Amino acid sequence: MSAAGRPVLDPATGRVITRLPDTDGPGVADAVARADAAFRGGWADTSAAHRSGLLRELGDLLREDRDEFAALERRNAGKPTTRAVGEVDFAARVVDWFAAAARYPVGETHPAGRGMRTYTDRVPVGVCAAISPNNYPLLLAVWKIAAALAYGNTVVVKPAPETPLSVRRLVDHAAKVLPEGVLTAVYGGAETGRLLCDHPAVGMVSFTGSTTVGREVARRCADGLKPVSLELGGKSPFVVFRDADLDAAARAVVTAYTGNTGQMCVAGTRLIVDRAVHDEFVGRVAELAAALRVGPPEDPGTDLGPLISRAAVDRVAQVVEEAAARGAEVILPPGRSGVRHELDGGFFVNPVIVDDAPSDARAWREEIFGPVLSVASFDADADAEALALAHDTAYGLSASVWTSDADRVERFSRALRAGMVWVNTWGDTEESVSVSGLGQSGYGRELGIHAVEGYTRPRAVWVAHRPGR
Ligand code: NAD
Repeated sequence: MSAAGRPVLDPATGRVITRLPDTDGPGVADAVARADAAFRGGWADTSAAHRSGLLRELGDLLREDRDEFAALERRNAGKPTTRAVGEVDFAARVVDWFAAAARYPVGETHPAGRGMRTYTDRVPVGVCAAISPNNYPLLLAVWKIAAALAYGNTVVVKPAPETPLSVRRLVDHAAKVLPEGVLTAVYGGAETGRLLCDHPAVGMVSFTGSTTVGREVARRCADGLKPVSLELGGKSPFVVFRDADLDAAARAVVTAYTGNTGQMCVAGTRLIVDRAVHDEFVGRVAELAAALRVGPPEDPGTDLGPLISRAAVDRVAQVVEEAAARGAEVILPPGRSGVRHELDGGFFVNPVIVDDAPSDARAWREEIFGPVLSVASFDADADAEALALAHDTAYGLSASVWTSDADRVERFSRALRAGMVWVNTWGDTEESVSVSGLGQSGYGRELGIHAVEGYTRPRAVWVAHRPGR
């Protein structure tokens, strides 16, 4: 890294947009000290109504500056405009939701004898470190910021080093609304993240990112006995039975593996299809995926923008090579060549479909974070085999199953081991529904009413009105 700072790239051209210095040890200590001072200096004692009002102003700020935020997501994260705008809108809805949730009653009173009042309330954790990933830079940071602030914490946010610009803008503009120190940002990669996790005045770490990094974050937080929320990776199954609406399922699986150019934690990247309809269904999926347009994010006709880095492009190409070398059939791109999509020096790839890769091939097992669909088939109507394939992963973030058989809907919605299960649909998320992974996808708590459990601690209080009664 040059002295002028870490380069922040436009992934559609590979060119440097700006440089941003990594926050060093003293810088992290300063940010945490400001957040701690704000917490102790009054923020923790503000009324929920007050915080709610400020959050509403923050939501307004996102709405008023929607185009600017969307332009940053387009430029820095390579998102086509409609997607970028949709994410800013979702972020604003999340802030609105937590503005309301801040005022929702929490805690319990317990039956007690005369002269004693016993209750449980929830107290903020203090300074919350929010460490966010590069695939939804603004949105996922806002999930954390809004919840943490609603429940009386202050926040130090660290966006991913590839995509810091939208969060930097949010934090800069939020200073117009929030008291000093309530929301601050630090920048950089692993080292800045480690400094945050290790800082003794950080009360909890809310992390979204890869499973490998999540493990390290959990270990560091264990040393400090800090609560940690982990939203990690996935390799999610998309199960299709012959009795499903195959047209709708084909459209959905294409969205599930190519949306955001495959850079989604919940991406449906393992298609598990009834052998009886395999050829017809995979053919349909391939046709739809091949028709998608890979192109610059500012072009309204673009479906797939670039991946986040050159390394991500290389990873996709290597995974396809490995699968082919191990006997898998590469259905898309035809003839295996053309995984890389050369355009303006950007980090583009074409959608990929790999059929029948060995179960230990990276295409089947690893989170690729690119538009790569790995296909496996099960014998017609063999529920157990379909379920075994769905569960052939250490992750447990999401799963989707498609069938018109009501009994099977019931069986699969009960049996699928995943934090989010979609039946005859895929990808639905809303601010009022709490989400959390299972297995190697972590144990976080984001959105909805259960976020309060992640961003506060319970506290039991006994108040004697007649001491020594
Ligand atoms: P990443 O794990 O490389 O980085 C995530 C964040 O952690 C970044 O801010 C990074 O700088 C920071 N970091 C890196 N090393 C660290 C360390 N040792 N200590 C503390 N912080 C550290 O992930 P990414 O490539 O930015 O994002 C993609 C990953 O995020 C994928 O695995 C994806 O599945 C996951 N993700 C999960 C969810 C979810 O809700 N479960 C949502 C989005 C993304």
